[in-house]
Amino acid sequence: MRWRGGRQSGNVEDRTSGGGRSVGKVATGGGLGMFLIALVVFFISGGDLSSVTDTMGGGSVQPAAYETENVSTKEYTDQKEFAAVVFAHLEDYWNGEFEQRNERYQNPKLVLFNDSVNSACGQASSQVGPFYCPADQNVYLDLSFADELSNRYGATGDFAMAYVIAHEVGHHVQNELGITQQLDQIRRRVSETEYNKYSVRLELQADYLAGCFAKYLEGETHDGKPILEVGDIDEAVTAANAIGDDTLQKEYQGYVVPDSFTHGTSQQRINWFKRGYRYGDLEHGDTFNEKNLDLAFAY
Ligand SMILES: [Zn+2]
Repeated sequence: MRWRGGRQSGNVEDRTSGGGRSVGKVATGGGLGMFLIALVVFFISGGDLSSVTDTMGGGSVQPAAYETENVSTKEYTDQKEFAAVVFAHLEDYWNGEFEQRNERYQNPKLVLFNDSVNSACGQASSQVGPFYCPADQNVYLDLSFADELSNRYGATGDFAMAYVIAHEVGHHVQNELGITQQLDQIRRRVSETEYNKYSVRLELQADYLAGCFAKYLEGETHDGKPILEVGDIDEAVTAANAIGDDTLQKEYQGYVVPDSFTHGTSQQRINWFKRGYRYGDLEHGDTFNEKNLDLAFAY
């Protein structure tokens, strides 16, 4: 992605301590256990995990602990600038889309943090992955997730991270459209297993919206050159594949429990991202339509 020198969003709040931050190095004894600990901490701290619509790395299995290691200021500055430029493009795109529909759009904010952060949805550690909190309309991101994407999930390249940020902003768009609120009501009256099916649809829609953003970027230029570069879409697809529920469960627990899926299979995530990239509109993104969920798309 051609991002250097691009406009940086003014809606970025840096709560990190600068260059000395955690990097996604795997410590032993992690996996599911660490995630449970993270969850316990979350509830003890009074957090409402249910209102956090996302954990990027799959709901039931989570990455291991981090080891703190200094990251060079240059690398940190680059990652921060990259995130701010992607966020600015997302602002341009979604403001334009909502304007066309004669609807108001309120920009979300990007909060950068390391290790742990306080949100209106409670306290969260980096281990829950990037997330969006509807209560304060912030996207929370530990920049070290970029290292984790490449080291743990094998999803390298800058556009893997752009996909992640676009997915989180997709949750904000769902909030602006009232979809999040409808799902909150459903959550109150159905079983957890039943709700998981809705969660999958919500997540796949965020992937679809990330695909729409990629389509938009394809038509944009910086200094007369296209912003989207060769390989960018593949980078996003690789990331979507790596964080599918089935792939994560196979990796971390060795077997797959479809009823516990909250984000969708790798194939579903790829399909919906690609579908967004193909159509680039809100109309083709109805993941809640029964016949759309497992639709195999031909490309
Ligand atoms: Zn999500």
